[in-house]
Amino acid sequence: MIKVTVWNEFEHEKIDETVKKMYPNGIHSVIADFLKCDDIQVRTATLDDEEYGLTEEVLADTDVLIWWGHMAHHKVPDEIAWRVRDAVLKGMGFIGLHSAHHSKPFRFLMGTSCNLSWREDGDMERIWTINPAHPIAQGIGRYFELEHEETYAEPFRIPEPDEVIFMGWYEGGEVFRSGCTYHRENGRIFYFQPGHETFGAFYNPNVQTIIRNAVRWAKPVIRLEELECPHIKKIGTE
Ligand code: ZN
Repeated sequence: MIKVTVWNEFEHEKIDETVKKMYPNGIHSVIADFLKCDDIQVRTATLDDEEYGLTEEVLADTDVLIWWGHMAHHKVPDEIAWRVRDAVLKGMGFIGLHSAHHSKPFRFLMGTSCNLSWREDGDMERIWTINPAHPIAQGIGRYFELEHEETYAEPFRIPEPDEVIFMGWYEGGEVFRSGCTYHRENGRIFYFQPGHETFGAFYNPNVQTIIRNAVRWAKPVIRLEELECPHIKKIGTE
């Protein structure tokens, strides 16, 4: 079983009527529901939980952490974000969704501003599969469309990705690297752009398939207990 923790700040859903209607039990519940299957076990965590839902115990028991945040990035203390980063370096998978591009754990892992250009006009987005042989693209056609999505546009200030799997194109003509992978030490990272809180991307079957594929791709290969920088002895002199 792959153990997934879906972390959501869970703020918009409590204060904004449109978002409440779109995701009445929170974005995390919808993601948890479509992910649960024979080989994936899911728990959810939010800002309101003990240690922001990200205790050492939770992270040690998480194979892949999925992150959705937007208006409350600053409410996650640096110390907790470094803890998440370290868990990734030790081998935990990390999937950053949509506005998680500005979350502290993602920025700490990337080392850049992760800024992008954006507008919220509800344009149609066409997402092109540009790396069809990648495990995360399996079951996805040449392209699919989201009727409405927030426009995220290049330049996206990320380090050069290991792989770009999806490219987004919007009615207004902008393009964006919508699905990118990274390795950071032992951990695998996938960033995926759809998922604005008012537009319902998480109900789209293609989006669901991609996130499910990404969980299976990002599961740990090895998992260190500690990050170490050990002193060693020359072979033959131990
Ligand atoms: Zn958004």
